[in-house]
Amino acid sequence: MKIAPGTVAAIAVEITGSSADGTEKIFQKRDEQHPFYFLVGQVDMIPLLEDVLIGLSAADVFELDVAMDQAYGPHRAEQMSDLPIDIFRLPDGGFDSAHVAPGKWLNLEDEQGQSHKARVVSVGDMSVRLDFNHPLAGYDLHCSGVVVDVRAATADECAHGHVHGPGGVFH
Ligand SMILES: [Zn+2]
Repeated sequence: MKIAPGTVAAIAVEITGSSADGTEKIFQKRDEQHPFYFLVGQVDMIPLLEDVLIGLSAADVFELDVAMDQAYGPHRAEQMSDLPIDIFRLPDGGFDSAHVAPGKWLNLEDEQGQSHKARVVSVGDMSVRLDFNHPLAGYDLHCSGVVVDVRAATADECAHGHVHGPGGVFH
């Protein structure tokens, strides 16, 4: 069976990034024993990755380079923000140091009720420095891997928009 919209694909994949200053980073690494399962056409993936996978079958290998501008763009300084430390107070007045620590990801809601993901850069006495850039912003991406399995999605999976069973939701 070939990967197409309406199939469930399992892929072993490694996604690495390199930034303009030469930093290399591994963003995801899934081997054939622990592949990444997804309902084709229903998930947000690295741009262009799904296009490369469409039409492949089990045991086919794939490789893709996505330049920063086609991926998540440059890392923007204006997406960094210092927020007053008081908004991270716990109900008892203490500081939420378990969740608000350098490297941690936060879900923050704006005035419109929209949620935004931000990474904590540093915690000062009066403010918390946050980075609202996409985690892959600033990187040229390289993806490589192999298709582990392809099967037809069930009607329930299509209706729910996610994979059921191994690698997905059990319910
Ligand atoms: Zn479901």
